[in-house]
Amino acid sequence: MASIRTRVTAAYALALGATMLAFAAALFAARRTTVLRDLQVRVSTLADFGHLVLTQAGTQNNPVVVTNDSLRGPELQPLLRARLDAVPEYVVVSDSLRALYTSVAVRRLPPEDVDALLRAAMRLTPAQPAATVQLAGEKLLMVARFEHGEAGPVRRVVAASSTAPAEFATSEQFGVFLLIAPFVLLLSVVMAFMITGGALAPVDEIIREVSALTDGRSLHRRLPQSEGDDELARLSSTLNAMIARLEQSFSGLRRFTADASHELKTPLTVLRADIERAMSAGPRSTEGLVALEEALQQTARMADLVESLLMLARADEGRFDLHREPVDLVPLVRDAAETAQILGEAAGLRVGVTALEAATVMGDAVRLRQLLLNLVTNAVKYTGKGGRVELALVRRPDSVEFVVSDTGIGIAGADLPYVFDRFWRADRARSRSSERGGVGLGLSISQWIAHAHGGSITVSSRLGRGSTFTVTLPPMSAAEPVTAPGAAAGPDAKS
Ligand code: ADP
Repeated sequence: MASIRTRVTAAYALALGATMLAFAAALFAARRTTVLRDLQVRVSTLADFGHLVLTQAGTQNNPVVVTNDSLRGPELQPLLRARLDAVPEYVVVSDSLRALYTSVAVRRLPPEDVDALLRAAMRLTPAQPAATVQLAGEKLLMVARFEHGEAGPVRRVVAASSTAPAEFATSEQFGVFLLIAPFVLLLSVVMAFMITGGALAPVDEIIREVSALTDGRSLHRRLPQSEGDDELARLSSTLNAMIARLEQSFSGLRRFTADASHELKTPLTVLRADIERAMSAGPRSTEGLVALEEALQQTARMADLVESLLMLARADEGRFDLHREPVDLVPLVRDAAETAQILGEAAGLRVGVTALEAATVMGDAVRLRQLLLNLVTNAVKYTGKGGRVELALVRRPDSVEFVVSDTGIGIAGADLPYVFDRFWRADRARSRSSERGGVGLGLSISQWIAHAHGGSITVSSRLGRGSTFTVTLPPMSAAEPVTAPGAAAGPDAKS
């Protein structure tokens, strides 16, 4: 396939050539019509002149026709002949049967042309007084004038003139066109080729730059952004935006892999140490049993982590099926409150339910329960002794809200945008992770569940004062069908 440049130039050359031809054809046709009309006017004037000469002679009572030679028959009288001989064109004067006079130009023609001319002249009628006749060497335009008695036996005066000058004028013009056209065409094509080359040069640059993006590490590069708002500038900015998105998801993927490996490495190391300890202490000894119990805990932790990763991976691929059914949220919130109370009692906190309004949503009961428990356990986890955790289920005009607020450690304003990122944990929480036991996937999963139900999750928090997590879900009547739940829960998705 030829390049765009070649194709554009070829299309331009074709269009220009066709336009030039059409323009030239219209011009020649108009010119030819004008020249032929002029010729007809001239020939008509000649015929009128001949007719006038004869009519005048007839009214002056001079004989128009004389018969000098009985063999040759009647002919125009010499004075009229002399007058008409002054006309440089073809003139024929005839009675109703034969020619009475032929002009000098006619007499110079070869006999067969004279015959053809006279035959054509005799064929003219008052209804069709003009015609063309093709002689051996040229084509003539003839015009006749008819007489009904004034000029004696004369019945018609025919004047004719060659169409060659008219043909020549147009063919000469065509010749000039043929001579000039290729140069004009060539010049335009060269210019079009250069202009297209210049216009498409940035595309080559874009191709070069995009080809240089060979792997994830080169995604920091950006295409040069040209001034203005033309198509190429928009193409560059669209590609740049696409590369930026790619860079973001590549780095998210890298971070995710590194975090996942790290989170799996820690329990594996502890597991290994526990097993070694159990083996060296002997399976029946107390120390051995303690080590095995710890190993079991680590295995459970790893299983939880792998299950969470698998769930997020499936969600990303859009392969996670939600079993949608009408779900009454009241018992779910009650269960979550009970769990919070049990956990809170152990941690020395007060747990309360401030509102429990009837609310039903279309969704997956298991996933919704997981979402509520995630928020509730976090609230308990990140609230110190003597603190308070409150749950509320509120029915709004077009949504259902589940709110968990606590008076715990809170989250710094600068950290809030990252709270729902995978593996993200506040530094203080991270340092106490062994104590709290989280890996930073709970809120990512919660966010995915909320999005998958057509809802959202938001957080407001102040460091040291506490946090409030709000889940907003569409009520059952307005619930959207579940679509591609993973799409809304990318590694960096925010509420
Ligand atoms: P984790 O398993 O670490 O709790 P999450 O995804 O549930 O993971 O939470 C991510 C991080 O968000 C936590 O490590 C913690 O720093 C912060 N966080 C979550 N909930 C709260 C809360 N109620 N109060 C303070 N910080 C919280």
